Amino acid sequence: MAKEILLQVEGPTETITLSGERDERGTWRLWVERGGEEERREWDDWLDALLTLDENPWEEYEPVTVHPEFRSKVWGAVLQRAADPAELVPWFQACFPDEPVPDPRVWEEKCPLPRLAEVIARVRDAVVLTGAGMSTESGIPDFRSSTGLWRKIDPRRVATVETMEKDPDLFRRFYGERLRNLEHVRPHAGHYVLAEWAKQGIVRAVVTQNVDGLHHRAGSPEVYELHGSLRTVRCHRCGSPADLEDFLGGDACGLCGGPLRPNVVLFGELLPEEEWDRAIRAIRESSLLLVIGTSLEVYPVNQLPMLSTGRKAIINGSVTEWDHRFHHVIHARIGKTLMKLDRLVKEMK
Ligand SMILES: [Zn+2]
Repeated sequence: MAKEILLQVEGPTETITLSGERDERGTWRLWVERGGEEERREWDDWLDALLTLDENPWEEYEPVTVHPEFRSKVWGAVLQRAADPAELVPWFQACFPDEPVPDPRVWEEKCPLPRLAEVIARVRDAVVLTGAGMSTESGIPDFRSSTGLWRKIDPRRVATVETMEKDPDLFRRFYGERLRNLEHVRPHAGHYVLAEWAKQGIVRAVVTQNVDGLHHRAGSPEVYELHGSLRTVRCHRCGSPADLEDFLGGDACGLCGGPLRPNVVLFGELLPEEEWDRAIRAIRESSLLLVIGTSLEVYPVNQLPMLSTGRKAIINGSVTEWDHRFHHVIHARIGKTLMKLDRLVKEMK
C-alpha cells in the first residue's frame, strides 16, 4: 500500500507531516515526520496521532495539505484548538477548498476554548476532576499500560491486599518502582495553571484519581485524593503512619508488627470516605466541573460528573462514552489546552 499525506503544516522553522498507509481492509496506520525526522511510532488511532502533533503548535501553522478523507476530522480538531475563530480561515480553505469562506463569527458557537474561557473567567467555585491523563504528560505511565518489568504482570493483581499479604516482595517491588519513577517527574504547565486558578479564586478544589501528589507539588491548595497518596506509608493493621524507607526496606510496623503499605487505595478497597464526601459536596455546589485526563471508565468516580448541575467540560486524549453529557468537549493535549485557556481567561479579566 502506498504512503499518503494526511495532513501537512508549515511552521516558521519546521514542516510537520502526518502520513498514513491503508491496509486491504481500509484501516489506516499513521506516523509523524517533523524536523526532518520520521517517527515510526505508528498509531491506528487518529486521536493518538493528534496528541503527538500537539507537542508542537501545529494548529497555528500554515496548512499545506489536508487529505480529502480526513477533511472533517482535521476541521473538528482545529475547531477544538482555536482560541479565536478568525484563526480558522486558512483551515477552512484547506479543508473545504470548493466552498466560499463564511464570516468566522459563524464558528464561534463551535469553538469550545473561547466559550469555556468565558465561563472560567466568571466562576468562583469550579471543581476540577483529574485522572491518569493529567499525569502521563508529566511522564508517569498510565497504571493500566504496563511497561518494562511489569509488562507481563497485571497491576490489578499486584496492587491488592492479597498480594501484600501473600507476596510482600512483589508488592514492595511494584510500589518501589513507582516511587522511584516519581523522583524523576515534575508537574507540567497544566498543573501550574490549575494551581494559579485556585489562587485567583476560580478553582475551589481539585479532585484527583492520581496518587503522585503532582497537584500538591504545583501548589494547588485544596486537593482531594480519591485513590490516596503514594508519598506516605501506614501500617495495614493498626493504621499508624510509618516511614517510606521502612516500607521499602521490608520492615514491619514498629508498634504492632503488621505489614506496611503506601497510603493508596488498592484494588478491591473502598475509596476514603472523607475525601469522597468532600468531593461530592464540592461538585454539587460548583457551577463549573472541569474533567481532565480521565476516560471515566472506573466506577464510582465516573458517577461524579452526573452530580454537577452547572456547566461541564471535559479535556481528554480520547473519546469517552460520557462526552455527550458535557457542554464543552476537547480532545487534545492537556497542558497545551490549559495554557491556552489561561491566556484567554487573562484577556477577559
Ligand atoms: Zn501497626
